[in-house]
Amino acid sequence: MNKDLRKAVIAGNWKMNKNPEQTKILLGEVAPLVANAKCDVVACVPFLDLPAALEAAKGTNIQIGAQNCHWEESGAYTGEIAANMLTSIGVTYVIIGHSERRTYFGETDETVNKRIRAALNAGLTVILCVGETLEQREQGITEELVALQTKIALLGVTKEELSRVIIAYEPIWAIGTGRTATAEQAGEVCGAIRKVIAALYDKQAAEAFTIQYGGSMNAKNADELLTQTDVDGGLIGGASLKAADFAEIIRAATEG
Ligand code: PEP
Repeated sequence: MNKDLRKAVIAGNWKMNKNPEQTKILLGEVAPLVANAKCDVVACVPFLDLPAALEAAKGTNIQIGAQNCHWEESGAYTGEIAANMLTSIGVTYVIIGHSERRTYFGETDETVNKRIRAALNAGLTVILCVGETLEQREQGITEELVALQTKIALLGVTKEELSRVIIAYEPIWAIGTGRTATAEQAGEVCGAIRKVIAALYDKQAAEAFTIQYGGSMNAKNADELLTQTDVDGGLIGGASLKAADFAEIIRAATEG
C-alpha cells in the first residue's frame, strides 16, 4: 500500500459551535496558518454558518462542508436541508452518519446510505463516519461492525462516485472524550476498512481511497496517528475550534 496514491484530508467538525460572526473570526485565524498545506483542508460548520464560512474561505485553500443533508431533493421534511441546497451556495463537502447523528437523531445505516446517494448525486464529496462503541470493541466485533456499516452505506455507490467518498473511522468511545485510539488501533481498523473497499470495488480503488481517523485527535497525538500507513487524514472535533491546534494537525498530515 502506498500512501502517496491518495490525498490526505484534514476536516474540522465544528458541531453546534460558533455563530456566523465567530465563524468569520475563526476561519480568518485558520486561513493564514494553513495557506501552505499540502493536504486538503475542510471546515464543516453548522448550516446557519455556511454563507459566512464560504465568504471567509474565498481565496483560501479551505473548503467548506456541512454536517448532514437530507436524501430528498425537496418536500415536507421540516428542519432538514437538501444536498442540492448545499451545492447551490458553493458547499463542497458533507459529513454523513456521524455517531452523534446515529445516537441522538435516529440515523441508521439505511438512512446514511440514502443521504450519501443524494449527496453524491448533488455533486458533494462525502465524509462517511463509521465506528464502534466501547462495548462493541470489548466484544471483539469492531472490524465486522465497521465493515457492515461501510457496506450498507456504500450500497449503490459506483466506483466512479467512490472518488468523492472519504471514510472517517471514529471509535465512539474516543469522540470528545480525550481518550484517543492508539495509533495501532486506528491503523488496524483503517486497514480493515481499506480491505472492505478492495472487496467491494478493487485493489486500485482501495489504494486511492482516503481514510481518516477521528476521535480526540489533537496537536500532540496527530503525528503518531497520521504516520500509520492506512490513516490518510483526520476528522477533528474539539481541536478544530482552536486555530493553532488545527494548523498543527494539518502540518502533521502534510509530513505524515
Ligand atoms: C468528531 O466529532 O468527529 C470528533 C472526532 O470529535 P473530537 O475530535 O472532539 O473527538
